[in-house]
Amino acid sequence: MKMYEKAPAKINLMLDVLSKRADGFHEVEMIMTMVDLADRLELSELKRDSIIISSQAGYIPLDEKNLAFQAARLIKDRYNVKSGVHIHLDKRIPVAAGLAGGSSDAAATLRGLNRLWRLGIPAQELQELGAELGSDVPFCVTGGTALATGRGERLTPIQSPPQCWVVLAKPPINVSTAEVYGRVRANSIAVHPSASRMQAAIEAGDFAAVCAGLGNVLEDVTLKLHPEVQQLKEAMVKLGADGVLMSGSGPTVFGLVSKQSKVARIYNGLRGFCKEVYAVRSLS
Ligand code: ATP
Repeated sequence: MKMYEKAPAKINLMLDVLSKRADGFHEVEMIMTMVDLADRLELSELKRDSIIISSQAGYIPLDEKNLAFQAARLIKDRYNVKSGVHIHLDKRIPVAAGLAGGSSDAAATLRGLNRLWRLGIPAQELQELGAELGSDVPFCVTGGTALATGRGERLTPIQSPPQCWVVLAKPPINVSTAEVYGRVRANSIAVHPSASRMQAAIEAGDFAAVCAGLGNVLEDVTLKLHPEVQQLKEAMVKLGADGVLMSGSGPTVFGLVSKQSKVARIYNGLRGFCKEVYAVRSLS
């Protein structure tokens, strides 16, 4: 028996850090949505009791460090499943990019194994399992668009933003999410993006207001560490994107574009100095 799952990338339309908590995590406020850039998972049932991960991508761990492996082990242990699974990851989302590729693979594994092993786990419970694997996993379980609070695991689904093109560019640098959060000083953030204003813009279907409301307080940290991310943002604005922001802790920068006629120019302009560029649709 085989199952297929798509694991889309997420972008943050806004990301605010409110405080640092006693448990070391940060209290955040984020509006996240999915884009049509996705990993593909093939899940094949194994008679023997083991979890095997394979991938065409040479640069991700294939052992228990892989988030899909961790998701499979969690669901197997919790629901006492005796059979095993081979998960093949066709990676298309750039890794360590701020696009939650690993989290989305973990979420797709939870969804896929729920079907493959006919466990009948309700979505809410799958999200709770996801929270044990990482802060972004619960959102990736259901996708759509959501306001995320707490450490990112408390979700309120909201309407999707007006459909548009999303051009993503990942510069060839590695950004450590832990380092970026470690450097954020919540009480010295000058301008906080507004979740309520972004939500209102989305609900009004006002694309210009969505672009105007984009904001990510982690940009200050990552842009200081990596000035090339700032250059990429400036290039995207100059090439005509309607709104530009860094996703998550970076280094991927995305541009929202309403007119298809502008997309090729932005894509080609960025390809001049950045190898990893994608032009995709937002997902509603
Ligand atoms: P986030 O936006 O949630 O911080 P990210 O997009 O920055 O995530 P990922 O692509 O999820 O980062 O990768 C982060 C790290 O996790 C990488 O260093 C990678 O080795 C490891 N990893 C574990 N499992 C996976 C997976 N299935 N796909 C990609 N990376 C994985």
